[in-house]
Amino acid sequence: MTLQAPKGTFDWLPPRSEQALAVREALTAPVRRAGYGYIETPVFEDTALFVRGVGESTDIVSKEMYTFEDKGGRSLTLRPEGTASVVRSVLQHGLHNGQLPVKLWYSGSQFRYERAQKGRYRHFWQIGAEALGAEDPALDAELIVLAADGYAGLGLTGVRLLLNTLGDKECRPGYRTALQDFLRALDLDEPTRQRIEINPLRVLDDKRPEVQAQLAGAPLVVDHLCEACKAYHEEVRSLLTAAGVAYTDDPRLVRGLDYYTRTTFEFVHDGLGSQSAVGGGGRYDGLSEMLGGPALPSVGWALGVDRTLLAMEAEGLAGAETAESRVQVYGVPLGEEARRRMFLLMTELRRAGLDADMSFGGKGVKGAMKGADRSGASYAVILGERDIAAGSAQVKDLASGDQTAVPLAEIVTTLKERLKK
Ligand code: AMP
Repeated sequence: MTLQAPKGTFDWLPPRSEQALAVREALTAPVRRAGYGYIETPVFEDTALFVRGVGESTDIVSKEMYTFEDKGGRSLTLRPEGTASVVRSVLQHGLHNGQLPVKLWYSGSQFRYERAQKGRYRHFWQIGAEALGAEDPALDAELIVLAADGYAGLGLTGVRLLLNTLGDKECRPGYRTALQDFLRALDLDEPTRQRIEINPLRVLDDKRPEVQAQLAGAPLVVDHLCEACKAYHEEVRSLLTAAGVAYTDDPRLVRGLDYYTRTTFEFVHDGLGSQSAVGGGGRYDGLSEMLGGPALPSVGWALGVDRTLLAMEAEGLAGAETAESRVQVYGVPLGEEARRRMFLLMTELRRAGLDADMSFGGKGVKGAMKGADRSGASYAVILGERDIAAGSAQVKDLASGDQTAVPLAEIVTTLKERLKK
């Protein structure tokens, strides 16, 4: 049997792969316009970075990481998310000593050993944006608006924004205690009981119906916010409204880590079944300190490229245009000498800015013309021995079937002229 891609992974193939590129491009265009600079970090990092930067009590660290020992005995992990690496890099290179906030965006593969299903993969692609070193509701709102504009730029209309705040180090401890008191009185299994002690917010996120049924009366962060957090959140909400970005308050939306503070949000799409989150993010004011850096209040998001494309397919936005032409011109050389000439003609056409491909493998005219049709080209350039002798080639309009002889020296200008229309 031939080898298969590992479970939970897949290949992006043409023409769908073109759409993946287009999604990445469209989702990053808004942040690039807003002064975010591009950052690329290694695909693997010291395991300790994620243990500290994502948190031991998370599913990601406790069961989903691809961790291995390298030949030098170091424990390394394929990155399961981008934020920890970005913060590590900013601290390592002292970017936070310059102008704040440091604004960065990234695009890359992430790896999580998850239960594979539609929309949930073990290797997937995220676009991310992070703004480090400023506590300002306008920055939270900016990032949310930029993500919303990215989805809108793709023509998506079914993306909904869920918004919440998690409080800060003033008000969160009181809320945490109230939540723990409530949760301890419930009928929960042992692993969940342990979670109450380590990371009670995450219990709110438990998707099991038997757990959800008991959570109806759980205390909510909104009822425990300090004045500063309330005012901050109000400002974020009002800026979003002013920018025309609709949201739904979701008082149960959580990110389960202690250094996640205040603004938290998720973008969901209802056409995706159970894996409905297309993106999410929030403020992580405590992360830099967790990684040994100074206080660096920050906010960021990560958007899932794979799921965004699924959302586009669900809205009928992807697919039809996949039949788009691969090239504009297709060369049909008949014979050895013609192949040499065609090779050079293709090179000239491409250097002149046209998309061009030719038939390879010494095919006869029938097979080569089939290739021309499949390529989606508007014109075929056919070159036989008689044409070479006459110093010309046949330029065939593949839509109308019209064919004219054009001097070889004029092929490039003729095609450029015709393809302009
Ligand atoms: P997270 O880093 O978990 O906040 O995820 C941010 C976004 O990445 C999610 O909203 C999804 O769109 C996407 N994502 C997360 N995990 C996966 C996965 N296993 N497969 C595909 N996309 C994912």
